[in-house]
Amino acid sequence: MTTPGPVPGELATSGARLIIAERFGAETPTFQGEGPSCGHPALFIRLSRCNLTCARCDTKYTWDWSQFDPRKESTKQSVADLVAWAASSPVELVVITGGEPLIQQRRLVSLVQGLRAAGKRIEFETNGTIVPDPELLTDGVRFNVSPKLRSFGVDESQSIEPAALRAFASSGQAAFKFVASSVTDLDRIAELVDLHELAPVWVMPEGTTAEGIAAATRLLADAVAARHWHFSTRLHVLAFANARGR
Ligand code: SF4
Repeated sequence: MTTPGPVPGELATSGARLIIAERFGAETPTFQGEGPSCGHPALFIRLSRCNLTCARCDTKYTWDWSQFDPRKESTKQSVADLVAWAASSPVELVVITGGEPLIQQRRLVSLVQGLRAAGKRIEFETNGTIVPDPELLTDGVRFNVSPKLRSFGVDESQSIEPAALRAFASSGQAAFKFVASSVTDLDRIAELVDLHELAPVWVMPEGTTAEGIAAATRLLADAVAARHWHFSTRLHVLAFANARGR
């Protein structure tokens, strides 16, 4: 049995610090691997903790304490230190990901303000279950919202939150990026897109190997194109074999 999410009490006591799994892209440069900015040079700040427990999650070290030790897999880092780290790099795009970063969104407001003052633009990778704080919906901030389907090993009664999806859809700052492994997944995505009026839609083939990505890409391409949706790859898997920290 998995043990997800925050360790009780930890978020209330950490002041202006964030619970971080890893940050990368400054010392060893890399790219945004997915979605609308795929291929753009990017820095990554990966927040620890998630509010879902997807069976096919590839970052379980952010939340699955039956397999990982939170004391080894996460540290508390100050907003000031994170901003200074990002500002030391010429790379403009900072991807704030997880886990689910919006669990810590009250303290992300000051991180976003600091990164914007340092001339960065920001993309959040979120599972779309938490209504975004209006103070995060500022210029230079985009959200890649990735609602998780049942086929990804999660109960959709937990992973599909209509109020949060509405908030993202009406923000004008979100793209909806769905992971798919079958044409059946595309039918479910179409239902959700129609029901919650989600746009623009991006589909990304599931896979953690180049072979898996290639096979899913070929399987899905015609059906994605027929719906006039956008199609993404997972560049970090193709380029760096899904190595952690790339
Ligand atoms: S929402 Fe994302 S980080 Fe959280 S369990 Fe699912 S795949 Fe993993």
